Amino acid sequence: MTRKRKILAAVAATMFVATATALPERVGERVAATTPSVPPARVAALQHDPQFILEAVARRMGVTLRPDIPPPAIRLESRTPLARLQAAAERQWGFRPEVFTTTYATASNEVYLIDEARLYENYGGTLDDSLAHELVHYIQAHYLGDRFTTDWSEAEAVAVQTWFRKQYIAPGPTVAGAQDAIAGR
Ligand SMILES: [Zn+2]
Repeated sequence: MTRKRKILAAVAATMFVATATALPERVGERVAATTPSVPPARVAALQHDPQFILEAVARRMGVTLRPDIPPPAIRLESRTPLARLQAAAERQWGFRPEVFTTTYATASNEVYLIDEARLYENYGGTLDDSLAHELVHYIQAHYLGDRFTTDWSEAEAVAVQTWFRKQYIAPGPTVAGAQDAIAGR
């Protein structure tokens, strides 16, 4: 979903809530059923297990994962209310984003991921390498004591993400073959 469409969808959702609360419950349901709405977005799926991605990223960063440091929870946009991201963002950065965004929330140890398929089709990349990027920030925060005060953190995340994509995401129809090869390692 484009930013503009997201904002429109958010506005439409707010308007629906206002309408629904103003009407008796059953009427509100009927309004919801007949109101034209944005069709649900197609959802991108991970090609790799999140643990596999985390281990690959940690190896690349020269970090040994420890069982006493919990891995982050992964919150996909398609299954996560915007309010949850807003609350996490407000705690960490002091503002509530209007739309869902891909980010790592240090305090709550959560990766938020936009998983709309069209976004990846339009801009390239995959859900997997977006997750790899956010997992770099997780390792920076919880293993390396990074306080995200310099541009280096982001540069490192982009570099590892790019490496992950080249290493583990094969383009086009050869993806299944690449996964098999990885599984056999
Ligand atoms: Zn980043």
